[in-house]
Amino acid sequence: MDGNPELHVASADASETVTKTTCPYCGVGCGVLVAPSPDGLTARVEGDPDHPANFGRLCSKGAALGETLSLDDRLLTPQVDGQPATWKNALDRVADAFSRAISAHGPDSVAMYVSGQILTEDYYVANKLMKGFVGTANIDTNSRLCMASSVAGHKRAFGSDTVPGTYADLECADLVVLVGSNLAWCHPVLFQRLRQAREQRGTKVVVIDPRETATCEIADLHLALNPGTDVALFNGLLAHLADADCTDANYIDRHTNGFDAALSVARSFSLSRVADVTGLRGADIAAFYELVARTPRTVTVYSQGVNQSSAGTDKVNAIINCHLATGRIGKVGAGPFSVTGQPNAMGGRETGGLANMLAAHMELANAGHRDLVARFWGVDRVPDQPGLKAIDMFEAVASGEIKALWIMATNPVDSLPDADRVRAAIAQCPFVAVSDVTAKTDTTELAHVLLPALAWGEKDGTVTNSERRISRQRAFLHPPGEARADWWQICEVARRLGYGDAFSYAGPSHIFSEYAALTGFENAGTRDLDVSALAGIAPRDYAVLAPFQWPRPRDEAPRETRFFANGNFYTPDGRATFIETRFRPPASTPDEAYPLQLNTGRIRDQWHTMTRTAKTPRLAAHYSEPFAEIHPDDARAAGIATADLVELASPLGRVVVRAVITDRGKRGSVFVPMHWTGQFASDGRVCVLVEANTDPVSGQPELKYSPVSLRRVSPAWFGFAVTSRRPDPAQYAYAAIAPASGGGWRVELADSAQPESWDQLALDLLGGPASPGANAPGGDGAGNAEANGHVEVLSYHDAASNQHRFAAFADGACCGLLFVGPQPVAVSRTWAISQFASQIADGDRLRLLAGRPGAGVPDRGAIICACFEVGQNEITDAITRQGAVTVDAVGACTQAGTNCGSCRAELGRLIHEFALAKTG
Ligand code: SF4
Repeated sequence: MDGNPELHVASADASETVTKTTCPYCGVGCGVLVAPSPDGLTARVEGDPDHPANFGRLCSKGAALGETLSLDDRLLTPQVDGQPATWKNALDRVADAFSRAISAHGPDSVAMYVSGQILTEDYYVANKLMKGFVGTANIDTNSRLCMASSVAGHKRAFGSDTVPGTYADLECADLVVLVGSNLAWCHPVLFQRLRQAREQRGTKVVVIDPRETATCEIADLHLALNPGTDVALFNGLLAHLADADCTDANYIDRHTNGFDAALSVARSFSLSRVADVTGLRGADIAAFYELVARTPRTVTVYSQGVNQSSAGTDKVNAIINCHLATGRIGKVGAGPFSVTGQPNAMGGRETGGLANMLAAHMELANAGHRDLVARFWGVDRVPDQPGLKAIDMFEAVASGEIKALWIMATNPVDSLPDADRVRAAIAQCPFVAVSDVTAKTDTTELAHVLLPALAWGEKDGTVTNSERRISRQRAFLHPPGEARADWWQICEVARRLGYGDAFSYAGPSHIFSEYAALTGFENAGTRDLDVSALAGIAPRDYAVLAPFQWPRPRDEAPRETRFFANGNFYTPDGRATFIETRFRPPASTPDEAYPLQLNTGRIRDQWHTMTRTAKTPRLAAHYSEPFAEIHPDDARAAGIATADLVELASPLGRVVVRAVITDRGKRGSVFVPMHWTGQFASDGRVCVLVEANTDPVSGQPELKYSPVSLRRVSPAWFGFAVTSRRPDPAQYAYAAIAPASGGGWRVELADSAQPESWDQLALDLLGGPASPGANAPGGDGAGNAEANGHVEVLSYHDAASNQHRFAAFADGACCGLLFVGPQPVAVSRTWAISQFASQIADGDRLRLLAGRPGAGVPDRGAIICACFEVGQNEITDAITRQGAVTVDAVGACTQAGTNCGSCRAELGRLIHEFALAKTG
């Protein structure tokens, strides 16, 4: 660390040190104030009222950050071949493997796969090493899966990867169109800002999404179009804008090229053809078109539903075409707006994290840029060919072309399409190093060398959010164990490869200073990204650097900026380019064998592959098990009931998940979240089903559309347990685990075979005594076992109905519960977990076996509000018995929805469902 890593701010408690930093989850980039506990294992976390991204707001994930600091699962020591090693040995091994591969097979035989979780300083040195010194462009980022299509669309239209607007535009707009964006769950604080603006000034909101997501809570119009048909819808809009005389002829004439050709393609999309392709009602399409036509202040927000498509770049350009045609770009309350998924996806774009980019938004394909960057770095040349994009990179690993691979802060075994093939490819790669904060992930299991990295709260650097705002992530904890910063690891390997002089940084401020200088190097307004005002920044100034938007050229003070209201695009002639966007359907189509269409995405309270969010029981309480949302008609046809287990299969693999029957999605489609890994579920890795179809321009994979089959699976038994032992899901035919309050684990189980001994199964799961004599298998009735003097197990067996129950106690407290039955276990999870680690009076112990709260003890039901842990039953009670008919009224009764607001959409749905039931 350099300089003073902590920015002290006023705290009511004088003994507290409060640090200003940035949330490590989504691309909203909220500022947070953190006051760690003296042992550093928890922290008080609040939204930073001064941060321009959130002005004090947080979502459920951000609010729970203080619960994710424990070191239980951390990688704290370097490892070589599964054994603890010194940093010297581990780094020597990485450098040696890279060096040997480069000598024998050339620089393109090595690769790095990095992540939108790393900081801008890490990204900068990783790219400098690979593209400047190793001599390969084989470095790509998991942001390829998230927003590569937006990058490609921006570059085709603007000549640069520029986000024109700011978050404030969503608050100033009269119409916000959300395309493929579940803003309520994926960018919750931005959603809160939009909802507040809508309440205050009546902003119209249109949601374009095949699913009725939580975001639809504020939609004036929801267009549930057929998946993958956005190009047709926006081509039709462009034609309508022209026909309705709503285009800006002056803007088109002065600042753009290619309008006539793009319009000519768009004109083939009549209203009836758009209706045919999208499956939308003509009247709804017309209403949308008319709303856009008459609303100059329109912002179109788009996200993964647009980007994660084999036509993602065309979708982006079809949207941008409409904004260029109306001149609604770079103006207050008007513009296209791509929102990124990861906290530093934008920083990665800016520093050349994509295999086809150079640092500081320069292009590998541009000889002038290559020359400029090479001179700045003091190298002879940088590669003149793009490197391997993520999908191609792992294909090259599979084919043996890549001999040495360094993975940093990401989990490709779970997050890339065709995930089992990716796992097999990594497993047979001659050398794999993984830098991570977590000891055991599905990817770290395959590494030859593990390098312990600093986590959020320990590392120090900058990130850029979706509105081009650069903020500091500051350390407020000491580095645990031997963990070291990613940038340090890269520089140490660079030094061992013989490039020490170019990588002798004193700290992250030194790296940032150099990066800032590069952005201004021979720029003079020719490139969008210029933060050269920060070149030469001193460590103490870097330590207190306030959030700012780029550009910030030398000698300019920070200010809010928008691009392109007056043209000045970064193309050779300064004009934007209309793209002829031709509709094409998704790459794979359902057939008889795989008749349904799989959509993947995020849920409200989990993040990526759960390495941080799964550390807090509060977030796990929302959805604690992988699931599939299935339309009622499809469920009926397959004989599937709510809570059944179902198998989804594609030609590539299978998953087994819990059925959630809902009409939120369209008939013929299923939705499965992306988060579950082999660490948390036996068969929940949804990317094993997804084909590696990519967009031909951006290389971004189609994660939103995969043909699959669906069938009910019929286990002989189901189980639910709460236990202090963390089970390994791989040990069970079906298992899903999640943390529970009280330090335990909640476990869902199922199997098609009966175990040899229920008591042994309970023993393995709960711990405690192996005492078959107390409850001989097959013996019915309640029993009592006492084996080691510390743990007492009560059990109940009814062999005829295949019901088995166990309750374990130690020192008067419940230390485990297991319920088994032939149907999905109906016991209240919230109640059972509340009993875990609680003192239970002798007279109440048999009650636990019944699996029901005692008289006078209400069952809260599934947790809806993570902040105040308010259950569904409590909310239903507020609606049905206390007469709460608005979300605010439910909040007044229960507190639900009154803090971060992430659950307000679900509260609205419960109120709506009650109203429907009452009327109908
Ligand atoms: Fe973090 Fe939530 Fe803000 Fe995203 S919206 S940055 S997850 S607090």
